[in-house]
Amino acid sequence: MLLRARGLRRSFGGVLAVHDVDLDVAAGELRGVIGPNGAGKSTLFNLLGGQLAPNRGTVEYDGSRIDRLPPHRRAGLGIGIVFQNARIFHGMTALENVMVGAHATTRAGFLSAALRLPAHHRAERQIRTRAVEALHRAGLADWADRPAESLPLGQQRALQVARALCGRPRLLLLDEPASGLRAAEREELARLIEELKGQGLTMLMVEHDVGLVARLADRITVLDLGRVIAEGTPDEVRDDEAVVTAYLGV
Ligand code: ADP
Ligand code: MG
Repeated sequence: MLLRARGLRRSFGGVLAVHDVDLDVAAGELRGVIGPNGAGKSTLFNLLGGQLAPNRGTVEYDGSRIDRLPPHRRAGLGIGIVFQNARIFHGMTALENVMVGAHATTRAGFLSAALRLPAHHRAERQIRTRAVEALHRAGLADWADRPAESLPLGQQRALQVARALCGRPRLLLLDEPASGLRAAEREELARLIEELKGQGLTMLMVEHDVGLVARLADRITVLDLGRVIAEGTPDEVRDDEAVVTAYLGV
């Protein structure tokens, strides 16, 4: 397993947002995580990315414990993150947006940029090379030199993916990547995710749009009130009574 969470728990005051969750993601797998509003999806996502620490439980990545590591250390190990509703930097090109993301996740890059160390130019060139590569992978090669805010919404979302790809991740975590997109933009994003999957990238996608997850995911984990209530292939999960009950409240 590339990612293995055991007994993950996180509460906010009296609310158990994530309640003893186990989760395994195999290398090459696209795992979907779904659940009604307030199910604990974002909390689980942040426990995996390192934005939140668990009250209990463990997260292993590639055989090593990561649950106490800050986000930039997890990024350094190859975990890329696409946050829900992340914002782009206005007044910068698409390429610059990806490069700024790279500076923020590599400590050395950030330091050399800030202190203007001699290694600066070399590091800068390497980051630029990787950013161009990431834009290509995200299908944005033609948009590289345009102001980021001039990109259509679908391309802005792909830009968030490109930012995460710039770190050459082995595992990509996506929190509701399709939220707010129209059908056509959603379709483009689905194709991008399928392409990345074809390249062997392991992904975990939290998504409100069950149809999209059912189409893309190999396996789906269903959360309700912080707990895993079902896990399996899209077909298995669709036929699960507890899932239907959680979504329809009947
Ligand atoms: P989802 O992403 O599935 O909608 P969340 O993980 O955002 O669910 O929230 C799960 C539960 O935890 C909800 O009851 C929510 O109100 C609560 N919660 C999440 N984050 C916080 C926070 N920072 N402070 C207090 N309560 C929170
Ligand atoms: Mg959420």
